[in-house]
Parts: sequence; structure tokens; C-alpha cells
Amino acid sequence: MLIVGGGFAGLGCAFDLVRSDAVRITLLDRHNYHQFQPLFYQLATSQLSVRDVSFSLRRVFREKSNIDIKLVEVTRVDPKTRTVETKEGETYQGDFLVLAAGSQANFFNIPGAQSNTFPLYTLTDAQRLRSRILALFEDADRDPKLIDQGALNFVIVGGGPTGTEMSGSLADMIHSTVSAEYPDLASSAARVYLVERGSTLLPPFSAGAHEYASRVLQRDGVQLRLNASVTEVHPDHVVLGDGNTIKTRCVIWGAGLMAAPVARASGLPTGRGGRVQVEPDLTVTGFPAIYALGDFANIPGPDGRALPQLGSVALQAGRWAAKNILADIEGKPRRPFHYFDKGIMAMIGRNAAIAEIGERRHELTGAVAYAMWLGVHLALLTTLQVKIETFVEWVWDYFLQERGVQLLNRSDAARIDWYGDQSGDKNDTAAAK
Ligand SMILES: Cc1cc2nc3c(=O)[nH]c(=O)nc-3n(C[C@H](O)[C@H](O)[C@H](O)COP(=O)(O)OP(=O)(O)OC[C@H]3O[C@@H](n4cnc5c(N)ncnc54)[C@H](O)[C@@H]3O)c2cc1C
Repeated sequence: MLIVGGGFAGLGCAFDLVRSDAVRITLLDRHNYHQFQPLFYQLATSQLSVRDVSFSLRRVFREKSNIDIKLVEVTRVDPKTRTVETKEGETYQGDFLVLAAGSQANFFNIPGAQSNTFPLYTLTDAQRLRSRILALFEDADRDPKLIDQGALNFVIVGGGPTGTEMSGSLADMIHSTVSAEYPDLASSAARVYLVERGSTLLPPFSAGAHEYASRVLQRDGVQLRLNASVTEVHPDHVVLGDGNTIKTRCVIWGAGLMAAPVARASGLPTGRGGRVQVEPDLTVTGFPAIYALGDFANIPGPDGRALPQLGSVALQAGRWAAKNILADIEGKPRRPFHYFDKGIMAMIGRNAAIAEIGERRHELTGAVAYAMWLGVHLALLTTLQVKIETFVEWVWDYFLQERGVQLLNRSDAARIDWYGDQSGDKNDTAAAK
């Protein structure tokens, strides 16, 4: 049994399969850790540290003898033989193949977007962005003339959960930590722009939630640019569809997703977002021993449309695929995937969040939703140690308005003329082809 990807989907599947003596699993991932993407924006804004949002895959399974973990990057899949090739020059084959390689930023071929923006999809992305943000404050503190050149203008592209949460957290960091710790810097000159092509923020949420998110972000000083598209990204400014420009040295990309590149190199049927098309039982159309899961797949929902790219969908699909694989082994029929929708949540700012609970979407906002968001995300973190550390970081930030993890440790990303495309790990940030 081969599993490609130790994200929410791959881990969900491995957790349930590893309990069965009937299977021997090889889990392949290009990183030796699982990354908790929903909290990356807090790493980028100095609220949490690397160890709070990632954990070792080997440690998770160290008590289990029927799973091998290999640190490899899969480059090609042969669906007929269920064999994968790796960048390291090896091949792996399995009776069942589970593809859960996740997604990457989609730059929609917008000129300059790949070279001149900071996406937020990997741990490396989040660390680079943190260094970039901190470096701009340092640069402007040393040389205030840079402020007129846009050094303190942060442009966030995409008004979905990633862009909205990032905007709120960055605005909060500027008001609390930066204004207190850079006494010589005119931090009130800092601007956070949130640019969204559609007419609302947080499209999956209700109309009331759209209005709430806009109101809170504007209260916190975020400049909203709705019905506005970024059409070009340059090293020192972005161009909007109406011809207006915003000077900036930091563009954060949260505008779109596409499947990881190995989907294209798999010869499997793909659809929207380059994602692999699967049947309701999560097997790939035409390949009953290959499963595709999570952000890597278009999983049909009850109305026939693909389910959203969410951690909860990926985790549940992983666990469901494990059940279907065990059913296959026992000669029993596979069952169509049913996603149990517990609801959706987004953090907007201090004491401000939105929670829409259950399939009926009972809506909560404000401090209650804020506390609920903290509780749910705390519960999802792995070890007790990480839960305690994260809780302390949150309490510290809440009461003392101090962010403890201001580490400018990616000097490559920190240079004012640096942009993402020039550093390694390119697969993390490839453009739409
Ligand atoms: C910034 C951000 C915030 C988010 N916030 C939320 C939220 O609040 N709530 C929510 O439900 N969802 C959220 N999501 C979405 C959620 O994180 C994803 O839906 C979920 O991670 C998908 O899980 P996955 O297992 O499909 O992919 P991933 O978690 O991305 O895992 C894919 C794995 O595959 C590995 N991999 C990729 N390519 C290869 C290769 N070629 N060879 C070997 N290994 C490979 C990667 O290293 C990774 O470990 C957020 C996403 C982002 C980026």
C-alpha cells in the first residue's frame, strides 16, 4: 500500500489503515513533517512558532511496525502498474495507491505574480513571509524614506479565509507589537490592503458574515479593494484592473489553488484546478485500486459539485478511503463518501471571528466565535506540549499584546529586492501552466 502525501488526507488514511495487520504501508512525503496550514498566517505574523504548526511524521508512527516513511519527492505516477517514480531516482509500487499530494498556489498566469509575491502554502512560505514582514519594518526604521516607496504597504490578494485571516492578524500586529517595539518608526504609516476580485469577503460564508468581516477589518484599518483584480505584480508595485497602482514591497498571494504538479504527471483524469477526478467512493475514475484525496482531488458532493478544499474534507476523505481499502481487501463493497459538515470558521481579528455551525449553518460572531475558534484549533493540534505552548502564546498576545516569535531568520527573503521565485523549493510555488 502506497500513500503519497502526509497531509490531512494522507495521515487520515494512514491512521486508520495502520491499525490493521492486513496492510503494510509506505508513506511518501517530500517533507519529514506534517504541516498545519490553517495556522500558517499566525506563523507569518509572529504569533506562533514552527513547532506549533508542524510535527514529525516519524514521531507520529514510531509505535507502529507496519508503516515505512520515506522522504522522497514523487515526480511521476504510472497508474496502470500503480508505480511511482521519485526525484531521488527510486520507484515504489503498491497493490493500492493513495494520492494525497495536496495543492499549491495558482497564479493564473498574472504577469509577475509568481516571481514577486509571497504565497502561504508551505512551512517555508510562512517562514519567508515572516522574515519579509519583519525586514520591512527594520528597513523602514533604519531608512524612513523607504516608507514613501511603499515599504510599509502590504498587499494581500484574495479575500477568502487565507487573505482575510492574514489581513486581520497583520493589522493587529502593526497596532500592538510594531507600534510598541519600533518607537522611532511611523508605524501609523503602515497600510494593509486586501484586494478581492469578487464583491464580498469570505465567499463560502453568509451575507451577514461578509458584512461582519468587512466591518471588523475596516475598523482595524485594513483597506478593502473589492471588485478589484490584480493584473500585474512588479517588485515595487501592483497594478489593479482599473489601472490604479499600489506601491508595495510585500504582496501576499492567497488568490487561488491548483493541484500539486504530480497530478499532471500522473496520466489520470483531471478537472477543475488540475485536480484528479474521483468517483463517489474516492477511487479515480477508471482505476479502482487508486484513490485520490483532499486538495489533490475533485471529490463530488451531494449536489454533484466538488467539495471545497478544506482540512476537514481531506481528513474525513482519508479515513473513508481507509475503510474502502479494507473493504476491498475483505471482498466487501466500497461505500460512497459522505462528508459530515461540522461547519466553517474564520478568525477576523482580536475578539472577532465567525463560526457557522453544522449543515444548517447556525451563525456566531464576535467573542463567542473567537473563543470557539481558539478551542477548535487548539484541539486539532497534536501533542499536549504543543497545545500548552500555543495556548500560552495566544494568551500572551491577547492580554499583553506582544507577539513572541519575531524571528527574522530567512535573510534571503528579508532583502528588500528579494522575491520568492529566486529561492529553492520551487515546486511549492509553481505557476499555473
Ligand atoms: C493558509 C491556509 C489556511 C487554511 N485554513 C484552513 C482552515 O481554517 N480550515 C480548513 O478546514 N482548511 C484550511 N485550509 C485548507 C487545508 O489546509 C487543506 O484543505 C488541507 O491541508 C488539505 O489536505 P491534503 O492532505 O489534501 O493536502 P496537504 O495538507 O497540503 O498535504 C499534502 C502533502 O503532500 C506532500 N507532497 C506534495 N507533493 C508531493 C510530492 N510530489 N511528493 C511527495 N510528497 C508530496 C506535501 O509535502 C504535504 O505533506 C487552509 C489552507 C491554507 C494554505
